[in-house]
Amino acid sequence: MISPGELFTCQRCGSCCQGETTVSLDEDDLRRMGEALGLSREELFSRYLRRNGASVQMKTVDGHCIFYQQGCLVHRARPRRCAQWPLHPAILKDESNYSAITTSCPGLRGDLPYERFCRILDELLRQGDIVC
Ligand code: SF4
Ligand code: SF4
Repeated sequence: MISPGELFTCQRCGSCCQGETTVSLDEDDLRRMGEALGLSREELFSRYLRRNGASVQMKTVDGHCIFYQQGCLVHRARPRRCAQWPLHPAILKDESNYSAITTSCPGLRGDLPYERFCRILDELLRQGDIVC
């Protein structure tokens, strides 16, 4: 059994929570966040979420995700895409994705040859949902 720790150790720099866009949320994310915060779907939307075209995202405040405050306020219920970051399947498709993510996330192991990194990541993804 391979663990995400073979490819990544979060440095808690908060860089992935910055910016004016956030990840898109799916139905399961909305359910978990609502339960964790004790909010109805309507309350969750009005306080924390926004629509961006067909997708639902988190609002941003002062250039970062509304849940970021020296860490993630909804860590246990954070969106699946946040939990998976930075071990994104797009890394397997193109080495330039690996380079870009390595540049933006200081926790990702950048010392492994790309092919070896991909072999381990592929195995991790086969094991099931990644939670970093
Ligand atoms: S996942 Fe990467 S970018 Fe995000 S806080 Fe951890 S080390 Fe920083
Ligand atoms: S939900 Fe948490 S982990 Fe995801 S972007 Fe917002 S603060 Fe960061």
